[in-house]
Order: sequence, then structure tokens, then C-alpha cells
Amino acid sequence: MDLCSLTAAELRRLLDSRDVSVREVVEAHFALIAKKNGDLNAFLTVTEERGYADADRAQAMIDAGTAKALTGVPYAFKDNIVTNGIRTTCGSKILENYIPPYDSTLATRAAEQGMCLLGKTNLDEFAMGSSTEHSAFGPTRNPHDSDRVPGGSSGGSAAAVAANLAPITFGSDTGGSVRQPAALTGVVGFKPTYGRVSRYGLVAFCSSLDQIGPFARSVEDATHAFEISMGHDGKDSTVADHDYSHEVARGIELKGAHVGVARELVGDLTEPGVMGAFQGALDSLANAGADIEEFSVPIVEHGVSTYYIIAPAEASSNLARFDGVRYGLRVDGATHIEMMKNTRAEGFGKEVKERIMIGTYVLSSGYYDAFYAKAQKARAVMKKEFQAAFEKYDFIVSPTSPTTAFKIGERTKDPLALKVADFCTIPANMGGFPAISINCGYAEGLPVGFQVIGNSFDDDRVLGAARTIEGILAG
Ligand code: GLN
Repeated sequence: MDLCSLTAAELRRLLDSRDVSVREVVEAHFALIAKKNGDLNAFLTVTEERGYADADRAQAMIDAGTAKALTGVPYAFKDNIVTNGIRTTCGSKILENYIPPYDSTLATRAAEQGMCLLGKTNLDEFAMGSSTEHSAFGPTRNPHDSDRVPGGSSGGSAAAVAANLAPITFGSDTGGSVRQPAALTGVVGFKPTYGRVSRYGLVAFCSSLDQIGPFARSVEDATHAFEISMGHDGKDSTVADHDYSHEVARGIELKGAHVGVARELVGDLTEPGVMGAFQGALDSLANAGADIEEFSVPIVEHGVSTYYIIAPAEASSNLARFDGVRYGLRVDGATHIEMMKNTRAEGFGKEVKERIMIGTYVLSSGYYDAFYAKAQKARAVMKKEFQAAFEKYDFIVSPTSPTTAFKIGERTKDPLALKVADFCTIPANMGGFPAISINCGYAEGLPVGFQVIGNSFDDDRVLGAARTIEGILAG
């Protein structure tokens, strides 16, 4: 039996029936990582010792009859999720040797479940990018075609699930970094409502947009992974406890559901192959009785430009802490200012430096009102227009990405081309809405993602709809 190709739910059944041991499951995954990671570069750190220790603890829980939803299931974290005693690099040279002294809330929760940590996955430096090419440790490759990117910034987490190196991984989504790589690698990726999941121990990029979300090979697995991560921890004041129904998340009736297709999200940028797969999925939804209607949200045309003011602004402030004193790399200089300059010049990559400069610029006096304040207004309008649409529609759907996976190197010379990769995903971050990407077919052999966006705190209904759509598409 190929244990690595099974979903978490299938593994759980085999573990409970004692057909396999947790050690066997974990061993199979480490063996496949050893075989494939050299080419894929999905993992930056592999945690064998920890993984086997977790396995023994999980087995004890199963044997004692205290197993939980994900006990014994292997998983990995994007390397911007802090793990006590385990190197956390953020894909940056500045944190190359940084060993955190504490666990993120998510790491604590995964351990309480008895999940087994396989390692830390590759990402664009500080989660800035859409292709995982901005990692200081080399690009991750797409398991469907090794000349192509897996998307980003959580490309390592997406590729790991797509290549069967882990059934569940976690990433962070600020402008699309869970959903877009999920789409480009053909797996499920979910961004919860802003404020559902604690960001304690997620290295901050743009705090008002960042949200942790899971990758999996089924909506069911993604749902479990999300459920263990949600809710208050007393450490992130933006987390709100809000109604949520596990029953609803298991699937909802789509007959009569009002589904809106935002015209502007299915526009000129959309490749014909993506369009074909998306349209096919819409037809299946219509056959299942969903009431599908096109509508217009013109403001989304400004999503990417709004995002690239707000995200760098917050990043420039958040990244000020990497100064050679508090964390990671330190490059000496004649004075302490020289030391900080040298450290940041050597430690940060080009993309991160550019964003710090843009962010500092848009926040500086004289430009603040022209750029930052204006962007915040556009963001508020975007949120309002989507909220108005949710008065009418239960869900808004679109392709997750206008294109399939592009070639490594193809867009590095054209930053704008790279940035439009998030055209369809950014609005959900701007409004704080929950959104999921599931596979809806292939274009020339490359996966295409279907995005479902819901109103704030309708996470259960978004997951439920995705579960039903997944079933319909599997046909
Ligand atoms: N690609 C976007 C960026 O470069 C989004 C990144 C993310 O969601 N972390 O900022």
C-alpha cells in the first residue's frame, strides 16, 4: 500500500483499525521526501527526530483511545510559522540560522492533536512573491512539470502536498499565497476569514492581511486542518470566536444556491485553458441546480495596485525588527548604524529590499495621503462592494489564478507580470473574506484552480460548498 498517496482521513481509518502504525506512516513520508526533495526543493528543513518522537506520542494516544481528528497524520509548516527549537528561516538569509525559543499557536495546536511534524517548507522570502523564486534557498519546482513554478509564496507547502510528501501542510495567505500555489499544483488551499486563526508565531509580513491556512488533497482534510487551528488563544487580539458548524462544513446543498461570477475577475488576463476549465466547473454547478449569475465589481481592477501599497507599507514597518541585534544575522560595522545597514544589505534579498523602500515611500509625509490613505479608501470600498454582493449571492466564484503554472525564470524580469498572478485572490484578503481554491481540471496538463469566496465568518459554508463542488467535479 502506498501510504503517501492517501488522504489524512484515509490514514486515520488505517491507524484506528491498526492496519498500520504511526511510525510506518511517518517513515514512508520521510523516505519519499529523501527521494524527491533533492529535485523539488519543497522542504528547507526535514525534522526526522521530531517526526518520530511525534509518531510515538501519537501511537500512545491511539492505543489509549484518546486519538483526535488528526492524530498520527504527518504535516509540515511553511517556514514562516515559528517552531520552538527548529530553525525558522522565512526563506531569508537574514534568518538562515535562527532557532526560535517558542512555538506558534498553530505549532502548539498541531502537537496537541498528535500530528507528526515532517519539516519546514520553502517560500518566497518573508512570503513576498507568487512563485517561490524569491527564496534565498533556491526555487521550489512544480511536481506537475519541473521546469515550472509551484506558485507562491507558500510554494513549498503546495508542492509537498501535490508530490505526496505530506497529506497536510500549512501556509500563509496575505494576497493569495495559499490559494494561488494550491491552484498551480492542483491541491486544495483555504484562506480562512481574517480573525479566525491566531497569527501568534506567524512571522508578520502585512499584519492586517496575513492569515494562516491549510493545504490538502481533499476539502475534508483541509477542513480538519483548519478546525484545529481556529479560535482564540489569548495571544492575538484580532481573533474572534464566531459561529461555526462542522456539519455545514461537511457539505451543503447547492440546488438553489445563488452564485455570483464577478465579471472583472474573469477578464482579459484569463488564459483560454483556464477559462475552459472554469466554465466547465460552472456548467457542472448549474447542472447541480445552482443559480449562477454574472455581476460587476469594477473596483477589483484596482486590487493589485491597492495591495502593493498596503502590503509594502506594513512590511516596511514589520521588517524593521531585523536589525542585527534581536534576531538572526549580524554583519559588523564601525558604528551600530553601520552594523544595521550591513546586516540588512547582506541579509535581505532584492524583492524584500524593494518592498521596504516602496513601503517607506508611501508612508512618508507628503506621500502618505496620496498613496497610503488612498489605498486604504480603495480597500474599504472593495470590502463594501463585496459585502453588498453577499446580500445577493451566497458565494462568489472565479478562477483562482488567471494562468496555469509558468516557467521558472519567465516572470522574474517582469515584476508586474508576477504581481498580476494574485489578481483573483487579493480581493478576499482586502475584505477579510474566507476563500478556497480547489482543482477544476487541467489545461495542457497543468492544474487549474476554482475559487469560492464567502462572506466573513462563513468559513463553514465556503468549505461546505467546496466539498460539494469537489464531489460534483469528481463526478
Ligand atoms: N504574491 C503576493 C505578494 O507577493 C501575495 C503574497 C502572500 O500572500 N503572502 O505579496
